[in-house]
Amino acid sequence: MSVWRKCGVCKKDILLGATYQKCSISSCRKFAFCSVDCWSVHDSVMGHKSAYAEEERAPLTLKEERPRRRIVAKSAGRSQEASQSDLPMDVLIVVSKLKAYVKAKSGMNTSGDVGDELSKFVRVLVDEACENARADGRKTLMARDFSTLKIG
Ligand SMILES: [Zn+2]
Ligand SMILES: [Zn+2]
Repeated sequence: MSVWRKCGVCKKDILLGATYQKCSISSCRKFAFCSVDCWSVHDSVMGHKSAYAEEERAPLTLKEERPRRRIVAKSAGRSQEASQSDLPMDVLIVVSKLKAYVKAKSGMNTSGDVGDELSKFVRVLVDEACENARADGRKTLMARDFSTLKIG
């Protein structure tokens, strides 16, 4: 049998599947005690006023200890826009073409993180252009949606 936790007082092993005592005070739930005696020691050390020991059974496998993944349901009434964390944050620039352009234009080399940085600008421009398309009642982003944006 493998050890689940150690007693919060005497440090004796509490095995998987074994019964143990836990303190009724919610902030003490992280502690496990091998016996009521050990819990009583804890009780007097902590000076609880109206606490009691609760008998619990340790999980049979350590796997049960893992926190369950929280599934966040998307609310139906939400707009179609993805929240910031859902958005793909890939590099939107063809870096090889960019490098070729920079080289031809200025003779300079382009560092690898430029594509990432430029993608931020592209996103800002595209976001604004989408607003223009929306204001125009369209669901298709078009070149002219960029015409009011200040480029060059
Ligand atoms: Zn103990
Ligand atoms: Zn306690």
